Amino acid sequence: MLQVDLRELARGPVETKAELARDDPLFEGVAVALADPVAVAGRLQATGDGRFYWHGSLRTRISGECRRCLAPVSRAVTANIGVLFTQDPDALEDPDSYPLPPEATVIDLTPAVREELLLAVPQYLECRPECRGLCPRCGQDLNAGPCGCAPATVDLRWATLAALKGKLRD
Ligand SMILES: [Zn+2]
Ligand SMILES: [Zn+2]
Repeated sequence: MLQVDLRELARGPVETKAELARDDPLFEGVAVALADPVAVAGRLQATGDGRFYWHGSLRTRISGECRRCLAPVSRAVTANIGVLFTQDPDALEDPDSYPLPPEATVIDLTPAVREELLLAVPQYLECRPECRGLCPRCGQDLNAGPCGCAPATVDLRWATLAALKGKLRD
């Protein structure tokens, strides 16, 4: 359960465990498709003065195509979660804290789950950091070797320099 009753918390720490479907609306806008449900585990406890600390983790898998060579990529995503839910406005300066209205009776952990997942999922997939990608002309996978096309004609640094020279002359 990711909604915890404050009365339950008054009696002691609460174990939080949930599995959210990968197409849960909560995960809308995640940059790369989720391939597995999101498993959430953790422990929520009152630390006094209207503050509640949640310590936990999340785990899922993302999949898609390498953005350079289009090979299928599947990768585990994990994140450790340490966030504070607080009724104390002064504690909200910490980016890992969430406001809790004074009249709240329940702590909803789902906004924190969404935020942590968005941070943990990369903006794009790459099969490996040194992937050479596909040749823009013939489409050959350059990880398999050079393709025989002539190298790109203009080096980017020279292009910038040429543009600069043009500007100076004007
Ligand atoms: Zn690749
Ligand atoms: Zn080529």
